[in-house]
Amino acid sequence: MVKQVVEEKYLLNVQHLKKYYQIRGAFGRLSPVKGEVKAVDDISFQLEKGETYGLVGESGSGKTTTGRALLRLIDPSSGHVLYEGKDIANLSQEELRKIRKDMQMVFQDPFSSLNPRKRIGQILEEPLKIHGIGTKKQRQETAFDILEKVGLKPEHYFRFPHEFSGGQRQRIGLARALVLKPKFIILDEPVSALDVSIQSQILNLLADLQKELDLTFLFIAHDISVVRHISDRIGVMYLGHIVEEAPTDSLFEKPLHPYTQALLASVPRRTTDVKQELISIEGELPSPLHPPSGCVFHTRCPHAWERCKQEVPVYQEIHQRHFTACHLYDEK
Ligand code: SF4
Repeated sequence: MVKQVVEEKYLLNVQHLKKYYQIRGAFGRLSPVKGEVKAVDDISFQLEKGETYGLVGESGSGKTTTGRALLRLIDPSSGHVLYEGKDIANLSQEELRKIRKDMQMVFQDPFSSLNPRKRIGQILEEPLKIHGIGTKKQRQETAFDILEKVGLKPEHYFRFPHEFSGGQRQRIGLARALVLKPKFIILDEPVSALDVSIQSQILNLLADLQKELDLTFLFIAHDISVVRHISDRIGVMYLGHIVEEAPTDSLFEKPLHPYTQALLASVPRRTTDVKQELISIEGELPSPLHPPSGCVFHTRCPHAWERCKQEVPVYQEIHQRHFTACHLYDEK
């Protein structure tokens, strides 16, 4: 009974999610398994209704794989993704189709997913048609309404994708995600390809839409300063693991994990409030096919010692709602 109450507090409750890819020889499925890429390796986090959770880390850290597994665009290897208390891994195709109306994804480059031969109006009305929502006239009204919400003009309804700038295309991507009135949107690097001035316009638009439409966001990005702008809480990913999670202010004021400290060191000083010495990070992200033993960050960590190579650090709460996995914070 108590467990039930805890789960319902969250719109999304991710528990011990793993996504491993098997590597085989030249004959594909006929070849024996040679190894496994641990793209996402046992992560847990929760999203409360109406909040924005930022997921940040270098390219290859497992952020996008996580986003895709949450929507079951790929099947997780193990773990649970509870959406409003229902485990999406156990849903039938029909149940999944219904729940997908509530859960949408916006990509870095919406242009590649917009049909170049269709007008924007048709693109926006298509999901409504697929789900059998409204008459032709109602669908058209919804499309015009959404265009206005994302800051586009009625005449844009009749135009083709190639007639828009990068920022406008991202607004179209957002409009398409919003047309089914979702509750939860995964934004995967939604502003990375845009100029800085356009980035802030889109981030402000997202904040306004969130308030107006009571949306919950998972905001994925490699740039921690962009994530800060919009997130209530931030999870830092490294090589398939969440190594630190905290409310945004707490993370910027007192980053605990050496990797988070290194990410913040890469941000221009004026945008951080960090009072302590920041470290710089060297070397490449190790291969997830052969992840380091013990703490996965030990090959790049300036504080690493023998224990770090042998023992996996426990992910634990250090301050209120501020978690990390690092031996530096173990009780002696
Ligand atoms: Fe660095 Fe050791 Fe902490 Fe890992 S556990 S982050 S290697 S100090």
